[in-house]
Amino acid sequence: MPAYPPDNHTHTEWSWDAVAGSMEGSCARALELGLTSIAFTEHVDFTGWLIAPAVAAEEMWFDPAWVGADGRLRPPQLDAAGYLACVQRCQEKFPDLRIVSGAELGEPHWHQREVGAVLGAGQFDRVLGSLHSLAEDEPWLIDDHVYQRFGPAVTIRRYLAEALRLADSAAPFAVLAHIDYPLRFWPAAAGPFDPAAFEDEYHAVLRALARSGRALEINTRVPLPAPIVRWWYESGGEAVSFGSDAHEPAAVADGLTAAAAMAEAAGFHPGRYPHDFWLRRPCR
Ligand SMILES: [Zn+2]
Ligand SMILES: [Zn+2]
Repeated sequence: MPAYPPDNHTHTEWSWDAVAGSMEGSCARALELGLTSIAFTEHVDFTGWLIAPAVAAEEMWFDPAWVGADGRLRPPQLDAAGYLACVQRCQEKFPDLRIVSGAELGEPHWHQREVGAVLGAGQFDRVLGSLHSLAEDEPWLIDDHVYQRFGPAVTIRRYLAEALRLADSAAPFAVLAHIDYPLRFWPAAAGPFDPAAFEDEYHAVLRALARSGRALEINTRVPLPAPIVRWWYESGGEAVSFGSDAHEPAAVADGLTAAAAMAEAAGFHPGRYPHDFWLRRPCR
């Protein structure tokens, strides 16, 4: 078994929030670590997120010009042609690394026409669906202000309710990214996060995702609670995908060996080829 499973979720200079991103640098780093495969899943975002005025005033990770008069953050669009040409250049430059093209579609069930147009512009092999906000009528970009506004339990419940709508939708994605995204901002004052308090909600999302034939991502930006991976197996989930969500070369593959061990403990096995998802049935 390779030391690392494939890194199926990374960002480069082609993502609007990856200021230190570098596709070439991430390829070099992947080879240095001994990875056989890396996917560049750049952001494709069409949601105009509500953000607290304090966030707009203090955050430095986005251009203030992207915040409209209505207070919503609308990031710039992916240059799909430029990105795909860069993937091709890197594949020629790094022939020993399998480079997988891809995209991370933000709230794609709200923007099916727009994301369809982007995906139709070329070949995107690893397509992630993700949710960075709360429900449709109030698409708050999740951060610590959202926890202050709605409280920890409501934030998690509303996130999972929307994740269920995403999993149940026909949006064109193959992997549900970071089901634990809100945990990146979980308030310390609320004590340690206990997934058992939301077990029914997680099960509902995981069952819908399994029905849809999609894979669950183990995103390593924060440790995914192990019970969620076990619930995925119990729900009939066929496949897991691993992703560091690196936004710079130095973070490629961070945490992936621990994530692979967790997947194995839950009953998942490496796929037939190194770039494949891990599966619930061993390959013969
Ligand atoms: Zn994301
Ligand atoms: Zn990401």
